Amino acid sequence: KANRVAEIEEVIKEKNVELLHLQFVDIEGILKHVTVTAEQLDSVVDGKIMFDGSSIQGFSPINKSDLYLQPDLRSFAVLPWSVEEGYSEARFICSVKNPDGTDFDGDPRNVLKRTVERAEEQGYAINVGPELEFFLFETDETGRPTQQTQDFAGYFEPSPHDNGEKVRLEIYRALKAMGFTIEASHHEVARGQHEINFKYSDALTTADNAITYKWVVKTVAKKFGLHATFMPKPIAGENGSGMHTNISLFDIKKGENAFYDTNDEKELSATAYQFIAGLLTNVKGFAAVTNPLVNSYKRLVPGYEAPCYIAWSASNRSALIRIPAMRGPATRVEIRCPDPTANPYLAFAIIASAGLDGVEKGLEAPDSFDEDIFSMSAEELFLQEIDNLPTSLEFAVAEFEKGEIGRKTFGDHVFSEYIDLKREELDSFRTTVHGWELENYQTKF
Ligand code: GLN
Ligand code: MG
Ligand code: MG
Ligand code: MG
Repeated sequence: KANRVAEIEEVIKEKNVELLHLQFVDIEGILKHVTVTAEQLDSVVDGKIMFDGSSIQGFSPINKSDLYLQPDLRSFAVLPWSVEEGYSEARFICSVKNPDGTDFDGDPRNVLKRTVERAEEQGYAINVGPELEFFLFETDETGRPTQQTQDFAGYFEPSPHDNGEKVRLEIYRALKAMGFTIEASHHEVARGQHEINFKYSDALTTADNAITYKWVVKTVAKKFGLHATFMPKPIAGENGSGMHTNISLFDIKKGENAFYDTNDEKELSATAYQFIAGLLTNVKGFAAVTNPLVNSYKRLVPGYEAPCYIAWSASNRSALIRIPAMRGPATRVEIRCPDPTANPYLAFAIIASAGLDGVEKGLEAPDSFDEDIFSMSAEELFLQEIDNLPTSLEFAVAEFEKGEIGRKTFGDHVFSEYIDLKREELDSFRTTVHGWELENYQTKF
């Protein structure tokens, strides 16, 4: 630790860092930070910076509101866009502590830390690589987002059709300067839609990276006068934005990928099959977390490369779980339902927990499904016993509440706060009169 602090002090001096942002997320995964001066580094490192937890969504009641921030020293990064001659800013991602120094139960990052520890007790490290898609929209004179996409290009299309190339270049540079390894960047299927992929890592680092990525994408887009959104389905009739989550277990004792087995026909291990079974069994119970918004369920409809049926496949992009072709150390499962509005700490925790549940209980995976599920009739789906993902947030929240995976993974605090939050959101949506209703009913009736 002393070495790392010395390194940080070095960077602070060299880059003239004046301000330090101490970051964490609320229950929805919305980034928060409090800013202190670089002279306070010692108190920062010692976890002495306090804040009011009662003003953070899903945190603490007003009578127990003092909370402390403990920075993860690995997350220190200078903000590339803040750098000027003789001035810059940096950030730390923090875990939230109670006044007595114990971990605060309401912190989503602590939820993921507990899941990682549980996996370690079973002998596994969790590796995660997400793919977060986003849209770039034009803004109006006041800087508010419009519904006008920034271009009309499609999948892998280069400029001059792709207007996002310069923005993606700038995002890539900012992420790289903050320590990311960027693997690919491209225009996505929908107009105005993009994806930039960063290298997988352990679950906690990756959740930190996902939060950082979303912040950087929005910040850079704004510099170009654009609005970046991770909303799952911003345009009806076009592809939505997913956060495909590639996940694997690493056997700590053997020092190898726990999903790879050359003896199997698909070169997958028994652990991999059990993990897949755990995901399939629990997915209805965790969709409210991986697909947290009313809008999330408008993405999970047939025909847009987003899953709607509960099945797995070695190749099929219409299935919920796909096994990418790579084997050896890169063997992994890709779960395709999550969208980028999910809180990455809670999403990775509950996905891993669901998979580990399958391993713990030795669940058996059903046969893989390699036909195009989107083109199957309702009758065929019924005969094959292929079930639907929840079709609305309402169903998903009901499943989350009655399933065991939510409470087991989140603990009582986050579990009940999460349900309360989603119920409020559903009530607000349910009692609002929407444009569609006026359009379809006002004249006709
Ligand atoms: N946008 C699609 C989704 O909603 C994914 C498309 C792709 O990456 N092939 O999941
Ligand atoms: Mg991708
Ligand atoms: Mg994609
Ligand atoms: Mg993918």
